[in-house]
Amino acid sequence: MTDFLSTPTTSTPAASEQPVSAPAASAAPGARAARQPRRPAVARDVVVTAREQLTEHMLRLHLGGDDLTPAVHDSPGSWVKLFAPLGDGSEHGRAYTVRGFDPLRDEITIDVFLHAGGTMPHWASECRIGSGARIAGPRASGVAGRRAEALALFADETALPAVAAVLERESHSRHGRPVRAAIELGDARDRQELEAPTHAELVWLVRAPDEAPGTRLAAAAHLMDLLPGTAAWFAAEASAAKEARRALRAREVSALHAQGYWRAGVGDYRD
Ligand SMILES: Cc1cc2nc3c(=O)[nH]c(=O)nc-3n(C[C@H](O)[C@H](O)[C@H](O)COP(=O)(O)OP(=O)(O)OC[C@H]3O[C@@H](n4cnc5c(N)ncnc54)[C@H](O)[C@@H]3O)c2cc1C
Repeated sequence: MTDFLSTPTTSTPAASEQPVSAPAASAAPGARAARQPRRPAVARDVVVTAREQLTEHMLRLHLGGDDLTPAVHDSPGSWVKLFAPLGDGSEHGRAYTVRGFDPLRDEITIDVFLHAGGTMPHWASECRIGSGARIAGPRASGVAGRRAEALALFADETALPAVAAVLERESHSRHGRPVRAAIELGDARDRQELEAPTHAELVWLVRAPDEAPGTRLAAAAHLMDLLPGTAAWFAAEASAAKEARRALRAREVSALHAQGYWRAGVGDYRD
């Protein structure tokens, strides 16, 4: 189900997990001015109730709390700010998608991509059942609502939880609208089995070690065949998101949300 990644003018298919001919990598990102750390206006205490190593670099945390319902948005792929305690008494807060919510257990699940050298991945790897943290939110993901006729989703590992949540919702929907998704990984071992509608078309793109993150995903934004009435959603490294925004603006999409979920070389990046 991968023949939807073709050039806009031809129907030549590009194979899954093969290089999509990519534009030149984007310029090196610039540094941002230092910001004052912000404390959340309203944050809820949570405790780690379970941990699951989903794939090679994806760790799922179950976080339980007391009445978490107001912290969970009713749209899939919505996110919270997760605050982890650091040893020096300060907190480290970063955005994480609410992958799932169990109202009976009052528990949310968050999938943390364990990129090398990250503070949150380090905390997630070290935390234990009963470890405390806080969450603030929620915020919507920007994925178009049910009125879009078709969806085109583009994600790297950090946005994979959002795409997984969206596909899950679509698989329970009666409308059965077309959904196409391209997901870029740095390591094929991070591929997941996703619950998706039978008509969903999914392609996994595995980048080469010397490729900039998001390069293949930005190329996919140029190449994906888009059905009429498609709402496009793209989230990945910020330079790739910028390239994709440019590419998708030039295509016929009914709605567009392209966001940098992180920026290479910049901590606490906000798009
Ligand atoms: C709305 C939203 C939802 C998100 N949802 C998720 C989610 O569900 N799961 C998830 O894992 N992430 C998610 N992210 C991305 C996550 O917030 C960032 O990756 C964040 O920077 C991680 O914090 P950190 O402590 O690891 O690194 P930081 O302290 O922010 O940065 C330290 C260094 O790590 C680098 N870095 C950050 N992220 C990556 C990466 N993915 N790969 C390689 N280098 C990186 C930075 O460039 C910097 O050089 C989301 C981001 C947004 C905006």
